[in-house]
Amino acid sequence: MQTPFVPVRDTLKDEFPKLRVPFHRASVGEEEVLAASEVIRSGWLTMGPKTFEFEDKFAKYVGARYAVAVSTGTAALHLALEAAGVQAGDEILLPTTTFTATAEAVIYLRARPVLVDIDPLTMNLDPEDTARRITPKTKAIIPVHFGGQPCDMDEIHELARVHCLRVIEDAAHALPSEYRGKRVGRISDFTCFSFYATKTLTTGEGGMITTDNATAADRMRLMRLHGIERDAWKRYRADGSWHYNVLESGFKYNLTDFQSAIGLVQLTKCDAMRKARQAIAGRYSAAFAPFEELVIPTLSPNRSTSWHLYVLRLRLNLLAGDRNSFIQELQRLGVACSVHFIPLHMHPYYQREFGYRLGQFPRAEQEYHACLSLPIYPNMTEEEIQCVIRSVTETTVEFRSTRVAVPVSPFASA
Ligand SMILES: *Cc1c(COP(=O)(O)O)cnc(C)c1O
Repeated sequence: MQTPFVPVRDTLKDEFPKLRVPFHRASVGEEEVLAASEVIRSGWLTMGPKTFEFEDKFAKYVGARYAVAVSTGTAALHLALEAAGVQAGDEILLPTTTFTATAEAVIYLRARPVLVDIDPLTMNLDPEDTARRITPKTKAIIPVHFGGQPCDMDEIHELARVHCLRVIEDAAHALPSEYRGKRVGRISDFTCFSFYATKTLTTGEGGMITTDNATAADRMRLMRLHGIERDAWKRYRADGSWHYNVLESGFKYNLTDFQSAIGLVQLTKCDAMRKARQAIAGRYSAAFAPFEELVIPTLSPNRSTSWHLYVLRLRLNLLAGDRNSFIQELQRLGVACSVHFIPLHMHPYYQREFGYRLGQFPRAEQEYHACLSLPIYPNMTEEEIQCVIRSVTETTVEFRSTRVAVPVSPFASA
């Protein structure tokens, strides 16, 4: 084990004495404030006309026939899996490198999350490892577009076709992203988006499912509001009726109109916000590419990314400190970082409940120990961008190993 790195120089600290770069800052402005205020003044606060307008515009934006708005991305996954017919005892394939919500939604339905190792280049689930884990009980695959880069959807759809599996995309990071010219949201049976505070489009909390399947869309609309008949939301309006029928035991997963009003404004900025993130990513990659100690993100052919995350990886065999001390040093220099994600099989719950163990997904673990996510959001200032670049490059130089290099693992990133 490497010893914690003790910094020796303080040049950057002197240069940027007060600047602190947060990991994320929501890109919302006066337009969002106005739009939400208008709804609040209207007196109708919960799901209603603004939510349906948001659904229509969102569906058009991604090119899907239907969009169903819900309260969170986790709820989106839950309703999509339910509408896809996932039942107790089914096995659902998903990458170990994801947020716990992906597997949690599977567990809500008493199905079993079957974890899959990742492709070390993209950190997306590896189609070959996915294929190896298919059993007669497998019902669906949940590809997660890590950081915004679309998964190998052709390979995944081929597996689904051969084994009669449903594909439910976790697109919490992938708005907007494209695969073979198609926007994520119109590629599979179901696509689930998140509008959580740190995501590329935010309503504070919120989510959306897109599908081309009318029956599934109806089912999700029914289940998002207690399983009561479709127009139940109208029953408090002057022209609504007090009567309602409960058709199923559903959930309380509806989005509110003031959140949807924020979402509608955010949607008009979606392309411009991606452009801004893309420009920052370009600056980062140009600055970090010359350092052999750093691995910059690569984009596979035939796809584009939302740049929700900028995940930098460290070649630990060339550095005298580990990832945690690297992050600590960046933090000291004023740059807040994050790590996406602690693989699910490393968490106590998944080990206890499903018997997963350390070492079972070597590529996911390898990349986990080497990765960190840098701040990337549309309203970063020029000073903030420069501060990140200089902090990372300076820390890399400081961490440069003068020791004998450890042998490179076969899974180290190219
Ligand atoms: C954010 C996120 C979710 C869940 O979204 P919420 O809106 O917070 O419920 C699901 N999957 C991934 C990969 C995410 O990053």
